[in-house]
Amino acid sequence: MDSQTYILFALAVDVILGVVLVFLWLRQRDELHAIFWAVGQLSLTAGTAIWFLGPAQWPKLMSSAILLTTSVAGFWSGTEYFLGNLKRRHLQSVLVFFLGFCLAVYLAWSSHPQWIQNGAAWILGLVILWAGLRLSRNRNHFRFLGFVLMVRGASNLANAAGVVPTNYELWFIYSALIKTVSMLSLIYAVQEKIQQRYAHTIDSLSSGFLIQDRDGYIHVINERGARLLGYACPAEIVGTHIADHISGATRQMVADYFRRFEAADKHYPFVETATISLQNGQRLPVELIASPYFERGQLHCMVQLMDISERKKKDEQLFRASRYDTVTGFLNRHGLSLELTDLIAHARGVGGECAILFIDVDKFKRINDSFGHVAGDQLLNQMAQRLHGLLRADDVLARFGGDEFVIVLPGLPSGAARTMAAFCGERLLASLANSFSLAHQTITVSASIGVACYPEHGHDADTLIRNADIAMYDVKKTGRGELRFFDDAMNAHAKQVLVIDGALRGAIEAGELRLVYQPIIDARSGKMTKVEALLRWHSALLGPVAPDRFIPVAEDSGLIVELGTWVLNETCRQLARWREVSGIATVSINVSARQLLAPEFIGLVEHALAVNGLSASQLELELTERVLIDDGANVRATLARLNQLGVSISLDDFGTGYSSLSYLTQFQINTLKIDRSFVMDIEHSARSKSLVATIIAMGHSLGLELVAEGVETAFQAVTLEEMGCHYLQGYHISKPVAPDELLLFAARQQSAPLEWELSGN
Ligand code: C2E
Ligand code: CA
Ligand code: CA
Repeated sequence: MDSQTYILFALAVDVILGVVLVFLWLRQRDELHAIFWAVGQLSLTAGTAIWFLGPAQWPKLMSSAILLTTSVAGFWSGTEYFLGNLKRRHLQSVLVFFLGFCLAVYLAWSSHPQWIQNGAAWILGLVILWAGLRLSRNRNHFRFLGFVLMVRGASNLANAAGVVPTNYELWFIYSALIKTVSMLSLIYAVQEKIQQRYAHTIDSLSSGFLIQDRDGYIHVINERGARLLGYACPAEIVGTHIADHISGATRQMVADYFRRFEAADKHYPFVETATISLQNGQRLPVELIASPYFERGQLHCMVQLMDISERKKKDEQLFRASRYDTVTGFLNRHGLSLELTDLIAHARGVGGECAILFIDVDKFKRINDSFGHVAGDQLLNQMAQRLHGLLRADDVLARFGGDEFVIVLPGLPSGAARTMAAFCGERLLASLANSFSLAHQTITVSASIGVACYPEHGHDADTLIRNADIAMYDVKKTGRGELRFFDDAMNAHAKQVLVIDGALRGAIEAGELRLVYQPIIDARSGKMTKVEALLRWHSALLGPVAPDRFIPVAEDSGLIVELGTWVLNETCRQLARWREVSGIATVSINVSARQLLAPEFIGLVEHALAVNGLSASQLELELTERVLIDDGANVRATLARLNQLGVSISLDDFGTGYSSLSYLTQFQINTLKIDRSFVMDIEHSARSKSLVATIIAMGHSLGLELVAEGVETAFQAVTLEEMGCHYLQGYHISKPVAPDELLLFAARQQSAPLEWELSGN
């Protein structure tokens, strides 16, 4: 072989290796060192080719200087870039440097052409040696690449120094070999970098990542994935079967899993959640995102593994928050509804029964108001604990709302629900009656319990809870601290209340209200002295509705304040219109507790009197005993203010309520109205008669005026007059009538006041 062939052969190898580097770069544009090294190598090859083989007329000097410069620049920048030291911002200074370098080489060579060959060898040798030194200082497998480059650079330098062995052929083989190995090392380095980057990318994924083949063997797994499966590093798992890491999983199961990917109509990726048991005994809730793909005709699957234990925990917290009450830790309304639905379904299945106890703490609002909400919550907590202590293991306790608890007694045999509920309810009531200690205070409470039973009172959770609530409400209305079973009449009543409430809201605007007036006469003279205004409602929807039906509803909803104000104004206006008619001096109106205690009440009264030019003595307010006990201190102050104004106060329905003498002395009251129920009975019942006599005597001794209500017969009128009752009111005198009719009554009275003749009846 002549030297020409050797050179050609060496150049061919160089070109091939350079082109491989270019290809690598084309695949991964980020691996810029590949293209830099390729440029370095190919420029070197081109320079050598031109120098040795190029035609004579070629501007060899100029092209050699340029190619030498690009070669040096290629090796230098490839190495620096590989080491991560070359940045875009260096580009300008690097360019300027190499332009200067190129010019210097050209100038040196033009003045000293004998330097060309050796000079190029020196410079290249130095650059390659330097690159090798830089890379060999790395403490990883690129060290080898560094050593190879160092050897290559050293050989170049030896060449330049003229140390050329005598056996040229051997020397040539050696240098071709070292060049090839160094280039292969560079290619390997680039490949490794690509791999590393890829590995780094999947390692930096916050989720686990693995690739498995059709048979379930793991080809790639990142660190996170390895740790999720309970291993320290990926190397421990790569090459193993996925079923070996999940307890209970078999190869058959993995095969089945893959089979799903082969179905044509499936959409990828598959997302599913599962809890996997690891070989180390841990249970791991994960989300799996599986995307199948084909590699060399083989089905593979890329799986992302996400640890969702945190999410699971949050879900559980949310689940708890949505079903459990934060104050007591027992079920809340929503939780109860779900639980009860299940219990009912079970009872239905076995033909059993359930009892639902709806418990409401009496006057809990007062505790909240006087001790604050924190103390209120503490009390609820203590109550819940106490209630829970009395229950069987399967019984369910829930806090339904503010001061309401619901207890479900499930799994009762057919026919046992009522007995069990009564038994349990009595125990609960007795237990709650024992005092609680709260903020160094001893507090006693009572509760009302309504009971509904499945299947007797309803077939679903909502109905049963609602019916138990209705029964509880029924207890509250008539007394407290009792247990009562639901019955259908209560339900009808509750429905009616809703209808009335809805219709009543628009009644004032719709002009559906009016007032009727019932005369009250002097028992002795028979002359009308005052009238009582009574409200009438003719609903467009319901027809005429009696006050006994709609007043309690309005009192409950608070609408009574608005209605009462309307009555007050309307009465005063009417009274002003009657001014000329003698005999109608005073009107009494009925006032509810809520109305009286509204802060603006006194202002409203003053205003109504003022705009109608009335004096306070023309107005009387009728209150029931209930008002007096509900909020004593407040009522006392309000009544005192009214008395100062000159408005007199009547105590209505006297004898039916708490009838305590102390009220009569504590509050500024002017008149007692003896309830109709006693008046009705005085003819037949000695007891009623003596009761009325007692009330009258008491009234006299306290200096109160006495009105008898519901006087329906002349006998009653005479008897009451004889007993010393001052005034009479009732159908015997007149029914409540419209304003015009009242004028007729007054006119008749003028001509002939009523005479009480027993025979005249
Ligand atoms: P109350 O204040 O005791 O009114 C007397 C009720 O007895 C009236 O019934 C009246 O029509 C009826 N009554 C009068 N004389 C006789 C009689 O001889 N025999 C019989 N059987 N009944 C007689 P009304 O008008 O149905 O009112 C019922 C209740 O509704 C009133 O009882 C009162 O508590 C309440 N009420 C009526 N109007 C108002 C009002 O404007 N505001 C408030 N807060 N309550 C009112
Ligand atoms: Ca009244
Ligand atoms: Ca009354």
